[in-house]
Amino acid sequence: MFMKKISIVIPMYNEEANIFSMYSRLCLITKSLPDYIFEFICINDGSRDATWQCIQTIALQDDRVKGISFSRNFGVQMALTAGHDHATGDAIITIDADLQDPPELITDMIKAWEEGHYIVYARRMSRNDGFLKDLTASLYYKLLTAVADVPIPENVGDFRLIDRAVLNQINTCRERYRYWRGMVAWTGFKHTFVYFTRPERVAGQTGYTWLKLLKLAFDGITSFSMFPLKLAAYSGVFVIATGMCMFVYISCDAFLFGARYPLFKWLVTIIYIFMGVQFLLMWLLGEYIGRMHDEQKQRPLYIIEKMCGAQVVKEPLSTHSLPQNNEINVFH
Ligand code: UDP
Ligand code: MG
Repeated sequence: MFMKKISIVIPMYNEEANIFSMYSRLCLITKSLPDYIFEFICINDGSRDATWQCIQTIALQDDRVKGISFSRNFGVQMALTAGHDHATGDAIITIDADLQDPPELITDMIKAWEEGHYIVYARRMSRNDGFLKDLTASLYYKLLTAVADVPIPENVGDFRLIDRAVLNQINTCRERYRYWRGMVAWTGFKHTFVYFTRPERVAGQTGYTWLKLLKLAFDGITSFSMFPLKLAAYSGVFVIATGMCMFVYISCDAFLFGARYPLFKWLVTIIYIFMGVQFLLMWLLGEYIGRMHDEQKQRPLYIIEKMCGAQVVKEPLSTHSLPQNNEINVFH
């Protein structure tokens, strides 16, 4: 019998206190899903504790476990990249090691995937990361949704399932500044949500320092939005418009009503207008740089989800593209 394979990718940074409980919870879930083959890909992202030894221990007793260890801490986005590069499943699930992403949700995710969704996000109904982190995260998601060139769903982290077809497209993008949430959303495949309340970390400390979070937030905006570049254009238009108003006002006052303005007032108004012109030129330069930035990402120009017609499709993109029982088989 053909069994679908599910890869579970787990980035780990100083998680020695969580690995064994995480692994036993995952084993329970996988046991309750006997129709699938599982693989666990554990990435040790340069931990300074015994995380790698723990991964080795579980890899020795369970041949579904693949361990990967980085030479130093490269950050979650790179750990996720390595995990996806080594995943061989038909669907790939990413999950945190600290049990803040309840593994029990995997069952619902697989169900939604089987119903034909290519991406299944676990959406946080509420989170327990402390007042300041919750507030800044929700403000950031709102900002990102407002400025991003593609719709990036709010309140979803890296706990999600993606179909192999989605991964194949993302794998063609080897951009350095990676923001997985954005890249997954960018593919545009049919998606859905499962909901959960995010519990607190079971043990250990968060590996996301404020500095790392700030960098991630910046990478998210600069990788998926040209808005920061457009700020120069908006400033230019504002400065020129207000400068022109000032110029028209003092001209009318001087030529129609005979008011006398000292030379420096005329000069200040004209210099102010030219400042606006400079802003516009900066925006123009920014547009060229932005396009170069887009070009070097080398993302595919378009993504095909399905095709039909005789001779057209030799290799279906994913299990979802396979013909259903009641469809005429067009694959030769
Ligand atoms: N993590 C990682 N590298 C890092 C920081 C974190 O691989 O530099 C892992 C971490 O072990 C966890 C996941 O990424 O499995 C999420 O990190 P964390 O729980 O620290 O983030 P938070 O939940 O606080 O946002
Ligand atoms: Mg966490």
